[in-house]
Amino acid sequence: MLICPVCKNEYQEGYKTCSDCKCDLIEIPDVIAEKSKPVKAGMLIPFLLGLLIILCSPIISYQFTADFFIPDGNGIFDPAQFIWMLNAFHYSLLLVGSIICLPPILYWFKNRNSQ
Ligand SMILES: [Zn+2]
Repeated sequence: MLICPVCKNEYQEGYKTCSDCKCDLIEIPDVIAEKSKPVKAGMLIPFLLGLLIILCSPIISYQFTADFFIPDGNGIFDPAQFIWMLNAFHYSLLLVGSIICLPPILYWFKNRNSQ
């Protein structure tokens, strides 16, 4: 890619001087030009979904556990079992949320690092 060192305008191959500043264009590698493009917005959706799961995991896991215990409940259940299940749901949701969040984070991190 060709760019003007003064006004930073981009030019297609074939141009030699900037039409505004009349100075010689400089060649910069396309790789750098690619990297400086804004991050794909598509990465934001899985990231937000994963974040939502992580943030809501205490509520969701409580709801799941309560649904599991209360319907067939004659009022007698082991509180330790309830807490075990609550934690199991909670950690599962945290894990799922983290896995969904991970690819966008790695993508952004990689892009940030290579600039
Ligand atoms: Zn220029």
